[in-house]
Formats: sequence, structure tokens, C-alpha cells
Amino acid sequence: TRLDNRLDQLVNIDMGEQGVEHLFEAARALQGGSLLGAAAEAPMAVPEGGTVVLTTGSVSRAWITPDLGENDGPSGAAAIARALVLARNTTCVMLWEETLLPAIRNTCQTAGLFPVTLEQAAIARADKSFATIVMLPYATEDEVWQAQATQMLKDLKPDLLFSTERVGRNEFGVYHSMRGIDYGMGRARVDCLLDEALARGIPVVAVGDGGNEIGMGKVADHVKTHVPYGDTCQCGCGGGIGAITGCDVLVTAACSNWGCTAIAAAMAARAGNARLLHSPGREALLLDAMVASGLINSTHGIVDDSVDGFPRHSHLAVAELCRTIVSRAL
Ligand SMILES: [Zn+2]
Repeated sequence: TRLDNRLDQLVNIDMGEQGVEHLFEAARALQGGSLLGAAAEAPMAVPEGGTVVLTTGSVSRAWITPDLGENDGPSGAAAIARALVLARNTTCVMLWEETLLPAIRNTCQTAGLFPVTLEQAAIARADKSFATIVMLPYATEDEVWQAQATQMLKDLKPDLLFSTERVGRNEFGVYHSMRGIDYGMGRARVDCLLDEALARGIPVVAVGDGGNEIGMGKVADHVKTHVPYGDTCQCGCGGGIGAITGCDVLVTAACSNWGCTAIAAAMAARAGNARLLHSPGREALLLDAMVASGLINSTHGIVDDSVDGFPRHSHLAVAELCRTIVSRAL
């Protein structure tokens, strides 16, 4: 719809001059229409009481410490999980590094979702008692992830998988930062689970802003051509930073969190339910929670309430403008 196209345009203004407009055009051409529209249709198609597996942003300075996560990703993933729970009474399972579980736990709780076990989530879902989320650690060892992917898909039977700002490995199995450095150490191999899901035909929606994220495999040629280190990294592995893992629907955005804000808005418009929106007020709470959880603004290398170098008020403004764009549908 026209609303979806406006959301596409808003979040793909290349304010950070990272080259996202090229990736956006490529993704739109492949999608044959609005990215945000397609990305909102998928969660709205999840059956009532279904299960969605989510994963997001990750270890930021892996070569120094596995305990430091970045703040692009978590708030967006939490906003999508919240919208899914409110729209579909979904069981949302968030996969992360074990080292970062406390930070994502605080972030999701601030979005209104109380962390519980799978068993507790089933009771809460049946009772429609309260909004929950389940956090599970994912393996960081190459020998374990394949078996874990098979087991998790068997146990969880997800109706949809959702990834935002989560780095994926390149064709040589190396995880690269946007500067083309290998930072795969201590990193959960969640991208392998998404590959397995895609091979089985389970729908995958992915959000990214750079080219090294899960989902960008869909526009791999454009990452090679238009993104710094897209063709050749700095680590010497012989490849570029582009992730090989693709997706069914790719959402590009100048900042991945903005892509998630826009998806929530497009979901709210479809449901005619303003509660699904990611509001400026909740974004403010989430930015504060992410600071308190020690998630880093990776562009400036400091824990603060800027994300990808964009200051606090730009994130609140994007949430406000998304709300304005869909307001007539609510
Ligand atoms: Zn490399």
C-alpha cells in the first residue's frame, strides 16, 4: 500500500551515508514492492498462539570481550516481539549469546515482555495471562551449532524466524565487522539456524543496514559492489564482509532499529491496532534500558543513547514519523 511505501522511503534515507540506498533499491526490485509491507505481512500471517524465533545484534568488540553487545538491534527486536505477542499471542523465543542474555533480558522487559521458560510461556499463553518472552542461549562452537539447529527447529516448530542487525558469516565462514575485521570469536552461530530454516521453507524476515547482516545474502552482488570491504575484507580470508545467509523478506534501513520501528507501524496499520506501534515514549525507555544494560553505540565506541552514531532524538523522531504515516489507518 501507499503507507508501506512511505515507511520504506522514511527509513531508507541514507542519513549515515553508509550506502543503504543501493541495497534498498536492489531489495525492492527483488521483492517487487514495498519491503515494509512484505515484512509486516509475514508476522501478521503467524497463526494465533504460534511460535516465532528472533535474533538480533550481537557481540560488538568480540576480540576484546564477549560481554559487550551493541545497541542497534535489541530494541528493534524487542519492539517486534512485543507487537507479535499483542497481535497473535505468540510465543517469542529470542536467541543470543549466553554472555549477553542479561542485556537482552532487560531490553525485552522494558518493551513489556517478562522473560520466562518455555513451559511457563505455554501456561501464560493458554491463560492469556501476561506478555512473555523466552530467552535461549545459542552455541558459539562450530561443532555444536548444526545439531542445535536441527534440535531447536524440531522442538520449537517456529512459524517464522526474524533477524535484525545480526551479523552472518561470509562464504569462508568468517564473521566480519563493517570495517572488514574478523570478529567471530565468542559469537553464537545463529545464522546457521536460519539457513536450516530457509532450507526447510520456514519464512525468514531479516533487517539490516550495512551488508554483513543475516538476510543480505539476498543482495550479495550489491553488497560486493556498493559497500566498503564488500568485495575484500581486511582479515585476509579472501572474501568480503557480505553475509551469505539470505531470507524471504529483506528490510533495509539506515539504522536497523528504524526498520523494526517501521515494521511495527505497518503491523499496527494492518491490525488497526495502535498498541502494536513502537511509540517514541517506549523508544526512550528502551534507549535508557540499553544504556543501563551496557549495550554500546558501536559507531562512537561508547555506551550512550546514540545508536549507530545517530543521536537519541533521531530515534524518537523516526518512531513519531512512522506513527504519523500510519495514523489514518488506526
Ligand atoms: Zn575476511
